[in-house]
Amino acid sequence: MPYIQNTINALQHSSPAQKEFYQAVEEVLSSLAPLIESNRQYQDQAIIERIIEPERQILFRVPWVDDQGKIQVNKGYRVEFNSALGPYKGGLRFHPSVNASIIKFLGFEQIFKNALTGLPIGGGKGGSNFDPKGKSDGEIMRFCQSFMNELYRHIGPTTDVPAGDIGVGAREIGYMFGQYKRLTGRYEGVLTGKSLLWGGSLVRKEATGYGVVYFAEYMLNDRDDSLKGKQCLVSGAGNVAIYAIEKLYQIGALPVSCSDSRGTIYHEQGIDLELLKVLKEVKHCSLEEYLNTYPDAVYTAVDDYPSDGHAVWRYQADAAFPCATQNELTLADAQALLSNGCQLVSEGANMPTTQEAANAIVDAKIAYGPAKAANAGGVATSQLEMAQNASMQNWTFEKVDTHLQEIMKNIFTTANEASKEFGQPGNLVLGANIAGFRKVADAMIEQGIV
Ligand code: NAP
Repeated sequence: MPYIQNTINALQHSSPAQKEFYQAVEEVLSSLAPLIESNRQYQDQAIIERIIEPERQILFRVPWVDDQGKIQVNKGYRVEFNSALGPYKGGLRFHPSVNASIIKFLGFEQIFKNALTGLPIGGGKGGSNFDPKGKSDGEIMRFCQSFMNELYRHIGPTTDVPAGDIGVGAREIGYMFGQYKRLTGRYEGVLTGKSLLWGGSLVRKEATGYGVVYFAEYMLNDRDDSLKGKQCLVSGAGNVAIYAIEKLYQIGALPVSCSDSRGTIYHEQGIDLELLKVLKEVKHCSLEEYLNTYPDAVYTAVDDYPSDGHAVWRYQADAAFPCATQNELTLADAQALLSNGCQLVSEGANMPTTQEAANAIVDAKIAYGPAKAANAGGVATSQLEMAQNASMQNWTFEKVDTHLQEIMKNIFTTANEASKEFGQPGNLVLGANIAGFRKVADAMIEQGIV
């Protein structure tokens, strides 16, 4: 459709050198043609031109002092992308790869993900190119405090509520919350992913991983199938991967792999979840140490990965759960999964499949849960944390988990219904993009040209 292509061309001109952002925009816009063609008002109201431009982008310096007394400087970002449905909501990522393109791709995805949850939250994302790996506790604290010294003036419980992401867990949220409180004198729900001791929600830690598995189960149930007894490949060994593995066991499936930035473990009898938690949540060490307990497991170092993809997707399995990072599943990986009989892909990470891989999976018509639908359980539970903070209540694990299951079911139903309405039943990439976009676009139209 020329209108969509022209918009992408203009974006590449106005925001140069942001390849991950273009990829995310193209992925969404290429699904929207049937909606845009059938409804003239989205073009007349310039909704696409408006939605791809963040409402506000904050870029700041983060100076801090390391343990040797040397001054270090990092870049800080907060992209407040769209507030049509509620306060900006989305995580903070601390990773050396972070740049404006990555934060904008994540923020753009977040708009539609948050819309799909049905909850009153807008889309935003932030972070820094700071690398927490190998830093002392004191260095992490000083960095987080310096980051908040600027961020605090842009956020608030009804304006912008950041959470964690890669490299930002309960410890970093704690240090940032402490500094926010010191600077403002206010104790309020300005960050989610907080410790259970002081305002966090039960299930928040587990929510993204559990949600990815709930979503997969709803996709299979719709095809008169289930995850029970299925062999599952999981990538990643962080928050999302660990709790996806936990829920896979609870549901009767067999997760046989995990990976980190250095390599992949394949363990035919099933990943030892308790050992994985010790290695990654307590010792923060390489997955290679898994072999000390299980010499029969297979470890593949990153240097030995196939040149056209990732070792983890080359094993035979019924289902795949990419839960590490963006573009970790290539076309060659997708072809390997499909030729090995894989029947389901449910995305825990954001944009883990390349565009070519996603097209191949859609064409194969297997069950495919795109990230903005399948991994929305984390942000949805963050919103439940905000609701508990605002009403000064603490809900039980069962209550939050029941809400999470209902939300994941609704997201599946909404995306599935939209896929049928637009003539491609079961294409949840199309369904999720159209349903998420339509909700935000209609709210934008009702709120005028702002
Ligand atoms: P995390 O706890 O920091 O774990 C990330 C995992 O991925 C780690 O095992 C890490 O390896 C690995 N990894 C990171 N970058 C990598 C790279 N470039 N190549 C290979 N492996 C890499 O982060 P997380 O919270 O699980 O997030 C994982 C993904 O889920 C991200 O795409 C995030 O945006 C998405 N997500 C997270 C949430 C949430 O609630 N946490 C919600 C929605 C979406 P090391 O152990 O070696 O560092």
